Amino acid sequence: MKKYSVGIDLGGTKILIALVDKQTGEILHHVKKKTKKQKGPENIMKKMIEGIEELLEESRISVEEISSIGVGAAGQIDRKNGILIGAPNLDCFNLNIKNILEKHFNLTVYLGNDVEIAAIGEMKFGSGKGCKDFVCIFVGTGVGSCIVKNGAIIYGATGTAGEIGHIIVDLNGRQCACGAHGCLEAYASRSAIETRIEGALKKGRKSCIQDYLEPGKSITSSMIQKSIEREDELVLQCVTEASEYLSGGIASIINFVNPELVILGGGLIEAVDYFYQKTIKKARSKSLPVPAEKIKFTKAMLGDYSGVTGAAFLEERVL
Ligand SMILES: [Zn+2]
Repeated sequence: MKKYSVGIDLGGTKILIALVDKQTGEILHHVKKKTKKQKGPENIMKKMIEGIEELLEESRISVEEISSIGVGAAGQIDRKNGILIGAPNLDCFNLNIKNILEKHFNLTVYLGNDVEIAAIGEMKFGSGKGCKDFVCIFVGTGVGSCIVKNGAIIYGATGTAGEIGHIIVDLNGRQCACGAHGCLEAYASRSAIETRIEGALKKGRKSCIQDYLEPGKSITSSMIQKSIEREDELVLQCVTEASEYLSGGIASIINFVNPELVILGGGLIEAVDYFYQKTIKKARSKSLPVPAEKIKFTKAMLGDYSGVTGAAFLEERVL
């Protein structure tokens, strides 16, 4: 067996590329490329190829010692053909990542999405290690999830299973980015909290979060955390409301899937413990008694590196 594999986390602001030891999951070397300004298929592929070349050069590993390249991208994907179908935040559409990288490096390339690679990372070396039935839920700009059953990811008939962010929690509710109304994501994501806070500020409500705001920049999870530490009434109200919706969504998943464990991760969970604690307490109380008694909750362990670690193991998945 070849000892190493390359894992790539292709996100809206950066590409993280890592050389991963397949036995231990250890990241031996990594390269970071920014994608904030130059987007579009040509720029993204150029940066990815440059990054992989840098990684190989700096770590002095030859291509012969690498088993595969795994790429996880924030967007809609075709796993079988390795095509990034749509990634508006990267300005890439119908980009055949697999084809381009395989031609360039003569290695097999696997494509997954961002939630899937983070879940694989947690499954192999993080909070999901040793557990065969769990659900990973990531809360940040959006709300994404991944269902693991008998140690394998459930992809569904069209590869889109696990879209917890688009379960409908309010029939006539807020418009979601997907076009539907009342999706969980429109209530429980960091962006949803941001929209609520901004709306209230516009109406003249006061909040200490104004001390941290900069024109043109969005409200970050750490600004939310700082405001909670100062017991800010508006921020507490918006975060509590979001956790009310999220806990309802999670309780539905617990009742429907009956997992052993729910792993929560993402920027908002990592930064705001109040949000995490409130959400899991309420999720348990809203679930049916039998699954509620057994369900375990934990935070994701690998943070920013869960994606590259998991991407390096995309070669093991069964579609
Ligand atoms: Zn939606």
